[in-house]
Amino acid sequence: MILDGIHYATGEGLRLHIRDGRIAGIESVESKPSWPYIAPGFVDVQVNGYGGQDFNDPELTVEKVRQVVLPMDRDGVTASCPTLTTHSFELMHHAIETIAQACDEDPEVARRVAGVHVEGPYLSEEDGPRGAHPRKHIRAPDWDEFQKWQEASGSRIAILTLAPEYDEVVPFIRQVVDSGVVVSIGHTAASPDQVKAAVDAGASMSTHLGNGAHGEIRRHPNYIWEQLADDRLVASLIVDGHHLPASVVKSFVRGKHPSRCVVVSDITGLGGMPPGRYQTQALGDVEVLDDGRLVVGGQRQFLAGAALPIHVAIANLIRFAAVSLDEAIQMASIRPSEIVGFPVTRLEVGCTANVIRFDLPDLATNEPITIRENVIAGERVYSQE
Ligand SMILES: [Zn+2]
Repeated sequence: MILDGIHYATGEGLRLHIRDGRIAGIESVESKPSWPYIAPGFVDVQVNGYGGQDFNDPELTVEKVRQVVLPMDRDGVTASCPTLTTHSFELMHHAIETIAQACDEDPEVARRVAGVHVEGPYLSEEDGPRGAHPRKHIRAPDWDEFQKWQEASGSRIAILTLAPEYDEVVPFIRQVVDSGVVVSIGHTAASPDQVKAAVDAGASMSTHLGNGAHGEIRRHPNYIWEQLADDRLVASLIVDGHHLPASVVKSFVRGKHPSRCVVVSDITGLGGMPPGRYQTQALGDVEVLDDGRLVVGGQRQFLAGAALPIHVAIANLIRFAAVSLDEAIQMASIRPSEIVGFPVTRLEVGCTANVIRFDLPDLATNEPITIRENVIAGERVYSQE
């Protein structure tokens, strides 16, 4: 396979030769005005569901896992982390086991799964930080429980999001980090000292910084400043135009530095569903508003998750935070791969050919990039034509 395009970082014309699933050769060529950009595909480390199906489903099957994972090809996603949210031990165990089974049985699923993200249940029970995680299933960290899930996953759990304000959380974090899992701080009401203690114990990420938080907090100090200022934490950000105002995205990206930011979609199975109130297994009582926001049912302030895919973040990052296209791609592809230990695709000979071709929109609009083509392991899995 041969792919022509404009290099996302250098802006120069390039021809990729792809053989046996890998980039086998790269030529410098003169670009044509009609050519799209070419870049590594997106790696989304927080995907709760897609197209009407959530991973938190008591009747999750191998086929349903496939129904979530494969359709994201059209969004330029080449790998993602199925994300389980707070629920009973049994439901989460079933979902994790089923995702592992899908990876074992279906190579199409396996090559698109970069790891499993467990978000909860060891989160804050306060309204605001808790977001849409059901209060009755919120609980204190439990190593035995987490180990059972890790076993059921075939050691695929790559990220655990927790709130570090529990007693005994410091040794728990050390144990989880020592077992090779990234501990990410999120849905928390922790004091700055508790945040610092968690990072000292090995926590290395913040989950959707600025969301899963109180509507009103003390101006300073607080858990947002503390995480923003700590260079040992990479922040994941939801840059869909709804979850964070443009000024906050810019301040976070500048405060952390682009190299310490990744973008995630946090997309749920309600993505793309018509406005209305829904009772869901995964999120409980939620409402899809006319403007596409997904909120906790009965109010307008607390978002319950996202309904837009990760590719919308690229043009938004350039608009909101004035980053380069190169930096935006690093945040959506290369850094997330590194965090979860998934093989990184760069436009270099020998890398797995997980590449996309896309067009940038007019940046004066709020349109997203247009995905023209998605190639996973050297196979064209989506084409706009
Ligand atoms: Zn969350």
